[in-house]
Amino acid sequence: MNIQQELLSVLKDYPDFPKPGIVFKDICPLLANPAVFKRVLRHLAEHAGDCSATHVVGMESRGFLFAMPLAAELGVPFIPARKSGKLPGEVLKQSYTLEYGIDHVEIQKASIVPGARYLVVDDVVATGGTAGAVARLIQANGGTVAGFSFVIELSFLAGRKSLQELSPQAGVYSLLTL
Ligand code: AMP
Repeated sequence: MNIQQELLSVLKDYPDFPKPGIVFKDICPLLANPAVFKRVLRHLAEHAGDCSATHVVGMESRGFLFAMPLAAELGVPFIPARKSGKLPGEVLKQSYTLEYGIDHVEIQKASIVPGARYLVVDDVVATGGTAGAVARLIQANGGTVAGFSFVIELSFLAGRKSLQELSPQAGVYSLLTL
């Protein structure tokens, strides 16, 4: 079985969660399966190797689960992108549209270093709004988006296209495209 088939066999769909019309991709069974989780991490790390990232940014909260071990594997700092009001000190803030709502994302200002290269990581890319907001914060403050990396891409929501328009220099990698 290849990694995509293995992923498909462990992920679970929840139709109409958290609201009608959304098919929620539950990654909890993946987190509960260390063998498949390790394979997923290895694949993400192999693909990240090409983009010379100096930092990995993970999105609260499910993005943290992949971004943090990936940063450790790559030997670079992990930067959390959090919902409003969670991070202390001076923060950079950006609003964005989710598949199911509007939200804000914040990063500590000191984490964005001019000239540094940031790999933006999340579990799922849908519309690209969340990852795009983080990319905007990075780019507006002198950083470069080195790449985007996702476990699952919901291709019918065209997140890839909007991320490529926003950060044409950055590759968009998804392990499983649905
Ligand atoms: P978006 O900003 O539209 O690309 O949405 C991506 C964010 O929302 C990620 O942080 C995902 O965890 C979450 N998300 C969006 N759609 C889904 C879905 N169908 N299943 C699971 N998570 C989702």
